[in-house]
Amino acid sequence: MSLHRIVTVPILPLGMVNSFIIVGERPVVVDSGIPGSAPKILAALAREGFAPSDASLILVTHRHVDHIGGAAALKRATGAPVAVHALDAEWLRRGEGGPRPPTGWPGRLFDLTGFPARRAEPCEPDLVIDGDFTLDGYGLPGGVVLHTPGHTSGSVSALLPDGDVLAGDLAIGGILIGGITRLRHARKPPFEDDPIMVRRSLIQLLDRGASRFHVGHGGPLTAAAIRTYIAREPRLTASTGAA
Ligand SMILES: [Zn+2]
Ligand SMILES: [Zn+2]
Repeated sequence: MSLHRIVTVPILPLGMVNSFIIVGERPVVVDSGIPGSAPKILAALAREGFAPSDASLILVTHRHVDHIGGAAALKRATGAPVAVHALDAEWLRRGEGGPRPPTGWPGRLFDLTGFPARRAEPCEPDLVIDGDFTLDGYGLPGGVVLHTPGHTSGSVSALLPDGDVLAGDLAIGGILIGGITRLRHARKPPFEDDPIMVRRSLIQLLDRGASRFHVGHGGPLTAAAIRTYIAREPRLTASTGAA
């Protein structure tokens, strides 16, 4: 029997941007959406029967603005600590998404909209993760936050004992930025720091038993979909460098 449930919080329709609540002994919020998303996440907590103060932790999987956007407001509303990896912490403090190396034309086109360059309210992290971080004390016994770099240098994933993993944007589902069609088809996000590190991180998660990948756009993705993605993407299978 699973000791937790994953609740997807749609920040934008059609799976375009997701945040999550892991409902365990206490709820853990994973990612905070685009700027202005805190009320949607608080409403989702309420639908699950929780007061804002029940939240034990707000985990930010990485620095991009569609994941840090509501962090400061959520922290104020819940009083819960905000956790981020050390390598992405400074961007959270500044309320900026940081560099966004495009992975192809969708990323370049998306950047032209100005949307990814939006600023978030700066948020001082309470827990700066450096190494594995246990979720035992946050109502998720056996859960662990792993450093899974590649999408950004400070990307982390929350891996739960039954194979659920909240993997940020290591891979995404659906066409373009998620949504519309093929939500469960794994593909490359529009931006990525280091494709080779992404590959290593995905393999690390599979090796540690990850079987259901809950991602920031589209999804969820099966382990089989992730394996297909790793095998299909030439930039992920190349031994050096990347386009
Ligand atoms: Zn991202
Ligand atoms: Zn994202």
